[in-house]
Amino acid sequence: MATGSGSLIWFRKGLRVHDNPALEYASKGSEFLYPVFVIDPHYMESDPSAFSPGSSRAGVNRIRFLLESLKDLDSGLKKLGSRLLVLKGEPGEVMVRCLQEWKVKRLCFEYDTDPYYQALDLKVKDYASSTGVEVFSPVSHTLFNPSYIIEKNGGKPPLSYQSFLKIAGEPSFAKSELVMSYSSLPPIGDVGNLGVSEVQTLEELGYRDNEQAEWTPFRGGESEALKRLTKSISDKAWVANFEKPKGDPSAFLKPATTVLSPYLKFGCLSSRYFYQCLQTIYKDAKKHTSPPVSLLGQLLWREFFYTTAFGTPNFDKMKGNRICKQIPWNEDHAMLAAWRDGKTGYPWIDAIMVQLRKWGWMHHLARHCVACFLTRGDLFIHWEQGRDVFERLLIDSDWAINNGNWMWLSCSSFFYQYNRIYSPISFGKKYDPDGKYIRHFLPVLKDMPKQYIYEPWTAPLSVQTKAKCIVGKDYPKPMVLHDSASKECKKKMGETYAMNKKMNGKVGDEDLRDLRRKLQNDDEHEESKIRNQRPKLN
Ligand code: FAD
Repeated sequence: MATGSGSLIWFRKGLRVHDNPALEYASKGSEFLYPVFVIDPHYMESDPSAFSPGSSRAGVNRIRFLLESLKDLDSGLKKLGSRLLVLKGEPGEVMVRCLQEWKVKRLCFEYDTDPYYQALDLKVKDYASSTGVEVFSPVSHTLFNPSYIIEKNGGKPPLSYQSFLKIAGEPSFAKSELVMSYSSLPPIGDVGNLGVSEVQTLEELGYRDNEQAEWTPFRGGESEALKRLTKSISDKAWVANFEKPKGDPSAFLKPATTVLSPYLKFGCLSSRYFYQCLQTIYKDAKKHTSPPVSLLGQLLWREFFYTTAFGTPNFDKMKGNRICKQIPWNEDHAMLAAWRDGKTGYPWIDAIMVQLRKWGWMHHLARHCVACFLTRGDLFIHWEQGRDVFERLLIDSDWAINNGNWMWLSCSSFFYQYNRIYSPISFGKKYDPDGKYIRHFLPVLKDMPKQYIYEPWTAPLSVQTKAKCIVGKDYPKPMVLHDSASKECKKKMGETYAMNKKMNGKVGDEDLRDLRRKLQNDDEHEESKIRNQRPKLN
């Protein structure tokens, strides 16, 4: 039985001191406090076989962001007389060893709805309870407890944003004061010989200094998160008038949205604190925008996806996922790689994919454009494959939100208007007719005159030569002709929706195979027509 007088706070997300109920509880009435983070080598150590620098699971930008967040958490704890104890290994096994060695009376960690943590936490909780260690695992990553919302909705998650809002109401903490800091924390107890270390550097994890030619401009950590929040909401009129669909996806020097997503992802920023700050501004404003388009509405989208994801088995798959339409997507590795590597030949799409690789962040509408292009808009490639690329490269990569949005954009769930397709040419031009965004992320096109910047293949050869960018040599030719590719996609989606309707959602593998075969035959007929219409390339 546990006899110690110490508590262990296990940080995973929730990498902050402010509004951290697990930390608050762990520090109360404890003689010693063990603040732990476990480095999982699968997540952190370099995997040279991956398509971009990073581990087998995460791109190097996100790994760096995480290390910065840990470093900042460590210095926050040090100011309070504590520090972060970094251990390495499979997190479940490491945790059991800590509980055995340190004989703590309490284990505290933020509740996590991701399937990975659900499985891991069950094992650790079982072990802790069997040895008499008290476990405290509060919900503080989200505004609501997804289980309560599901329960209130009769056992199923609400599948529309509006019904979610109706059921959710006001979060329980809305009017409570959040604990933002401490005068001090209990000291660290004897750590024995479990191999505790300081937060490592990227180099110590096996990365080279020049791993990336350009790194994300966003630095990790609670201090940075609070600074960014303060700056974002200092213009109260901007907050009160915020309307998401009106933002400019091509704005990169000063993004049109807060760029708080990576901080919310790692919990460097409390969503509950963000919520309270917004409410204070709204209270004092004469009028303000409302969900779904307001800034508060964005936080509620996050809640919506967390709740649907938690209540939907196989949320991250097409197969076995009851809210996901069964669609006979194409398999095409070369096309997928061209999209992933920013080589589609459509500068708007390619610039967004380069921003993803270099920055790990893009505006929401930019994400819409590339996700639509890959799936139901042009290439008809599986949303799971696009999801994987985002999951690796985004610094804000979030299991529930990423999967939810990929299903949305591919018209697999939530949104079904497959006839509405983003043009890879005119959509970006509306916001950025000079192509500043493209010129920044695709310097090969920096001297292309503005009338050709979205369609460089239409520039006369003399213009391409003068711009030092020959299409087909310095920059790729468009991989598909958007007009015909999108028409084909709409036709395929129409047939697929009809089949899903006919089968009442019970589409089996064989049905999908048959439909794929039929669509491929239709494709072959169309192919000769399309070949004759390919854009004229100089
Ligand atoms: P703001 O507009 O300032 O919004 C504030 C916060 O609200 C965000 O930080 C985020 O936490 C939340 N939020 C905003 N939009 C959404 C949304 N549509 N759904 C859920 N929460 C939202 N967001 C992620 O955080 N992680 C992901 O892995 C992710 N994958 C996406 C994949 C696709 C295909 C698409 C279309 C969108 C994805 N998003 C994801 C949602 C959205 O694009 C980002 O949250 C947003 O662009 C982050 O920028 P921001 O912090 O400036 O947002």
